[in-house]
Amino acid sequence: MQATVNVNGVVTDGDQAVISVFDHGFLYGDGVYETLRTYNRQPFLLDRHLARLRASADRLTLEVPPTDADLETRIRNTMRGVNPDGDVTLRIVVTRGVGELTYDPAACPRPTIVIIALPHRRIPDAILRDGVSVVVARVLRNHPRSVDPSIKSNNLLNNVLAMQEAIRQGAYEAILLNHRGELTECSQSNLFAVRDGVVLTPPRDAGLLDGVTRNFLFEVGAELGVPVREAVLRHADLAQVDELFITSTTREMIPVVRVDTRPVGSGRPGPIASRLLSRFRDRADLLTRTLAPG
Ligand code: PMP
Repeated sequence: MQATVNVNGVVTDGDQAVISVFDHGFLYGDGVYETLRTYNRQPFLLDRHLARLRASADRLTLEVPPTDADLETRIRNTMRGVNPDGDVTLRIVVTRGVGELTYDPAACPRPTIVIIALPHRRIPDAILRDGVSVVVARVLRNHPRSVDPSIKSNNLLNNVLAMQEAIRQGAYEAILLNHRGELTECSQSNLFAVRDGVVLTPPRDAGLLDGVTRNFLFEVGAELGVPVREAVLRHADLAQVDELFITSTTREMIPVVRVDTRPVGSGRPGPIASRLLSRFRDRADLLTRTLAPG
């Protein structure tokens, strides 16, 4: 894998990067992470990702000692030689660190801070042109009073199990329902539906990750005059929608044309998602171009 990795400030090739088997991130999934990407080689919405990283860490009473400026410097140092003519995907991982085999946080005096930089892989045009199919997973999204899905933690088995169901059925993603039977999100993305010209997405209290892309899309919609709002959606509502799409940092927006065996709307990617994506990309380009040095 063509990756460059920063472990506690030391940058190496991906295959040279090591962490201890006594790291509680490895042993217990006790840690948090963020995935971000660059446009024009500038980390996109970095402030929002760092704010969410800190919010997630707070929920685990995990300290992230470096300042945002320090984290940004580490990110820039790590991505420097990676895919110099293109964009970069970045993963920041902060774990409890190395310590005895106990859940006591006091056993780990120093968090482990890892940054992984990889060439960004664009979503193939065929996927945007034709859309993807998804399944509704049998596994439910974690209850917010269990491992709260709003914490972007390394404890990802709920997501892994849902995605395994999608893979077994040849689908691109898995939609997860909550304990009340409401739609929440997908294993690695947020979910949006379009009905009568209005874009709807499950509310945060359904139990989901408050996606950076999700929030950005509210702004893109406002700019375009397309209403984007939260609404409780249930499994049965999927049969009534005109368009469906998913969002995430690395995938931007991908149209969904089939849920289980049933086509969504016309069975083709819809016009509203396409308008939103085009404005999304313009805005991402504009925001990062003005940041670019020189
Ligand atoms: N939900 C889940 C469970 C995710 O893993 C992701 C990807 N980080 C998202 C939603 C989308 O979030 P974002 O737009 O911040 O990438």
